[in-house]
Amino acid sequence: MDTIPCRLCGNTLTETFVDLGMSPLCESFLRADQIDARESFYPLHVRICTECLLVQLPAYVPGENIFSDYAYFSSYSTSWVEHARRYAETMTAQLGLTGESLVTEVASNDGYLLQHFVAAGIPVLGVEPAANIAEVARGKGIRTESEFLGAETGSALAGQYGRADLVAGNNVYAHIPDLVGFSAGLAALVKPDGLVTLEFPHLLRLIERNQYDTIYHEHYHYLTLLTAQRALATAGLTVVDVEELSSHGGSLRVHARHSGSPSVNVKSVLEAEAEAGLHTVEGHKGFAEAVFQIKRELVDFLHTARAEGKTVVGYGAPGKGNTLLNHCGIRQDLVAYTVDRNPHKQGMFLPGTHIPILAPERIAVDKPDYVLVLPWNLRTEIGEQLSYVREWGGRLVFPIPHLDVV
Ligand SMILES: [Zn+2]
Repeated sequence: MDTIPCRLCGNTLTETFVDLGMSPLCESFLRADQIDARESFYPLHVRICTECLLVQLPAYVPGENIFSDYAYFSSYSTSWVEHARRYAETMTAQLGLTGESLVTEVASNDGYLLQHFVAAGIPVLGVEPAANIAEVARGKGIRTESEFLGAETGSALAGQYGRADLVAGNNVYAHIPDLVGFSAGLAALVKPDGLVTLEFPHLLRLIERNQYDTIYHEHYHYLTLLTAQRALATAGLTVVDVEELSSHGGSLRVHARHSGSPSVNVKSVLEAEAEAGLHTVEGHKGFAEAVFQIKRELVDFLHTARAEGKTVVGYGAPGKGNTLLNHCGIRQDLVAYTVDRNPHKQGMFLPGTHIPILAPERIAVDKPDYVLVLPWNLRTEIGEQLSYVREWGGRLVFPIPHLDVV
């Protein structure tokens, strides 16, 4: 690609935000019979638009290739299911949802969120592009259509099921290459007086906390409140409120409506972004250097551990772990294996690095000296789950925001 247009405003992209080199798709886990086959690697070169400031990864890989058979099942994270339950309770009370209402969720996954509305007798519609995951949700009694949301599918679904009082999108708004079409789809799905809520990682926190491993091909843009406002405005949606959440290392939950005026919270988050420099192109510089510092610290630590004859294994097989491991060139010579609670991932291998994924019980059997925790966003939950590692003097290693061995 010689010239790449910004997906929001069409301006030619000329500035680099960070370039992490080539990486395989972070959710393309390999079976044993696939590890000798050729693997596809794609650039992780993130740009910033000098016109609208959208930080974006050009769509090197179309969404259909990524999400048609996606391996992520939200229900395997207990803290995430709890987060969903609280959201359902709060929204039901705030909006006065009843058996006459409709809650539509886009990227509804295996029904981890909608199940709470179903339990309260509130009609739901899930829209989940991955057919295998939509099937799991239907098996749990959650009405789900397997579709990619765009302007046309949004109108078609609204025609078939009615428009919703609440349209939720959790960790999807950053994951769709067609930001403008998806926004139009949201506008089509929601009633004239309905509410759209979107959760996505906040670029302000990503930069502050060095979360560079959340950059991967499935994650097409890295939003501030300012750029999210601009994207929603293309569909006539206005941001009326915003909440700051701790999930995924620091997220925003944006509330948008067909009309309304911004709350005090909106103004204060915008001010914080401006103060951090994120309302200018120059304010985004410096992140690339921070990224290479993390790489140096982690690789030095693992080489030293290896030289001292210590054993290191991983914990978790999240997508973000694959960005980190591939960018740092960490393979089985430095991390013997990783473990994951998701049985669909056990027995598979990490893309690119080919580190095997085993069941968590293996850690207690092998008693490694160090456990490298890949899903650092669940630090508290995993720290508790792995507290038994101390029984044999083992320690936990967190690579981000800075190398921390505890
Ligand atoms: Zn732009």
